[in-house]
Amino acid sequence: MIVVGGGISGLTAAWRLRGDAEVTVLEGGPRIGGKLRTGTLAGAPVDEGAESLMALRPEAVRLAQDVGLGAELCDPAPAPTTLWSDGALRPLPQGHVMGIPTEPDALAGTGLLSEEGAARLRHEEALPAEALTEDVSVAEYLGGRLGQEAVDRLVEPLLGGVYAGRPDRLSLRAALPRVAAVAERGEPLLSALRRMRTPRGAAQGPRVVPVQGLRGGTGRLPRAVAEASGARILTGTRARELQRTAAGRWRVLAVTSDGPLLMEADAVVLAVPAYEAAELLRPHAPLADADLGAIQHASTAVVTMAFPRTKALARGDALPEGNGFLVPAVDGHTIKAATFLSNKWRWQSEAAPDVFLLRTSIGRVCEEHRLDVPDRHLVRSSVIELHQALGSIGEPVAARVTRWERGLPQYGVGHKERVARVREAVGKLSGIQLCGAAYEGVGVAACVSTGTGAARALTEG
Ligand SMILES: Cc1cc2nc3c(=O)[nH]c(=O)nc-3n(C[C@H](O)[C@H](O)[C@H](O)COP(=O)(O)OP(=O)(O)OC[C@H]3O[C@@H](n4cnc5c(N)ncnc54)[C@H](O)[C@@H]3O)c2cc1C
Repeated sequence: MIVVGGGISGLTAAWRLRGDAEVTVLEGGPRIGGKLRTGTLAGAPVDEGAESLMALRPEAVRLAQDVGLGAELCDPAPAPTTLWSDGALRPLPQGHVMGIPTEPDALAGTGLLSEEGAARLRHEEALPAEALTEDVSVAEYLGGRLGQEAVDRLVEPLLGGVYAGRPDRLSLRAALPRVAAVAERGEPLLSALRRMRTPRGAAQGPRVVPVQGLRGGTGRLPRAVAEASGARILTGTRARELQRTAAGRWRVLAVTSDGPLLMEADAVVLAVPAYEAAELLRPHAPLADADLGAIQHASTAVVTMAFPRTKALARGDALPEGNGFLVPAVDGHTIKAATFLSNKWRWQSEAAPDVFLLRTSIGRVCEEHRLDVPDRHLVRSSVIELHQALGSIGEPVAARVTRWERGLPQYGVGHKERVARVREAVGKLSGIQLCGAAYEGVGVAACVSTGTGAARALTEG
C-alpha cells in the first residue's frame, strides 16, 4: 500500500497497517512529520509547529504510548488562559468553554468586557432558545446569544489560536460541536454549558490536564511512529498524479530530485492537505475535487525567540509569568498569541537554562498581508508587541521564523456536510482513503484518529 504524505495522519495510517500490508510512505518534503517539527534554537530543541497534544481525547497520547514515548509525555505548568486585551493581560475566569464564560459573574473586575458587553452576556439565559436546524457561523449563533463583544473579545482569540480562523466564517457544528449540540437541542447556552462542565467536586480530584507535551519536542512523535511502522519512507518524493490501472490497481506518479518515480499498489491513503488531495483526485472524483478545493486554508508564522535570562534580571526586567497569552483580532495587533515555552514546559527550561524561550504566532485567515514581509520584520513586530504587553523583557539573542503557508484548513459553514460528500464520492473509488487535518479536526489527536480510520477502512474493507 502507498501512503501519500508523511505527516502524523499518514504515519499513523502506515503504523496501523503494519503486519497487514507492505507500506511505502511518499513524503514530498525533506523530512517526515509535517506540522510536527522540532528544530533548534539557542542550542535547545524547540517545536516549530504543534507543541502540545490534546489529552482530553485519547488518540494522540495513546499513540505516543504505543510507540514507546509514554515516559516522555509531560504536563504543562498550570496557568490560566490569558488574553492580552484592551491593553492589559487579563486571565479568563476558570470554567470557560472556548472562551465562553459559563459563570458570567466571574467576569466582574477582569476588564475583559465593557459593562454593556457583560450585561448582554448575562442576558443570554433570558433569551428564548429555538432549536437550530442548520449549520451557521460561530459568530451568527454566539453573537445572537452572547453579543458581538463577547464573540470578539472572548471567543475569537481562542478560535484564532486553534484554527487561525474568523468566527464569522467558521462552522458552529465543526468548530464548536459541543455548543452546536446545545443549539440544536434548543436550550439556553450558558446554563447547558454549566451543566456539562467538570463538576465542582472534581476540583479536589486529580487536575484535568487538557494537553500534554513531549520532552524534547513533539517532532519526536512522527519519527517514533515511522520507525515503529516498519514502512519504507521516501522523503523528497512528491506525488503528482494518481492513475487507475487496467487491473483496477492504483499507480502513483511522483517526482523526486532524481527524476520521476512510478509505483503501483492495491490501495492508496491520501494524507495530504485538502488542496493536494483535490489535485490528485481530480480525474477520478470530480465532485470530491470541487469540495476539497473549496476548503480555505490560513497561513501562519511562528516566531521563536530566546531572551537572555541573566541580562534581563541584571537590568531589573521581569521575565514573563504564566504560559502565554492570546490576542483578540479587534485590537489590531500583529501577533495573535504568545507562548512562554520556558514556563509552560519544564523540559524546555531545563534544555536551555540561560535563556527564556518564547514564541509568537502571526496570521489568521485573510491576514496574509501580515506575513508578506521579511522574517526580520516578523521578529521586530513580535518584540515590539511583547514589550507592549509585558514591559521590557530585553532583546532576543536568537530568533527563528517558521512559516506555515496554507497550514491550517478552515472549517467553513457546512463543513461537515462537505466532508460527508467528499467521503461519499471517494468511497466509490475502491482502494482510496483520505485522512488528515482537513476533515474531522485540525488537532493532532483528530489527525491520528483519521489516520487510524483510513487504515481500518482498508484492512476491514
Ligand atoms: C503553527 C501550528 C501550530 C499547531 N499547534 C498545534 C498544537 O499545539 N496542538 C495540536 O493538536 N495541533 C496543532 N496544530 C495542528 C496540527 O499540528 C496539524 O493539523 C497536524 O499536524 C496535521 O497533520 P497531517 O498529517 O494531517 O498534515 P501535515 O502535517 O500537513 O502533513 C502532510 C504531509 O504531506 C506532505 N505532502 C503534501 N503534499 C504531498 C504530495 N503531493 N506528495 C507527498 N507528500 C505531500 C507534506 O509535505 C506534509 O509533510 C498546529 C498547526 C500549526 C500550523
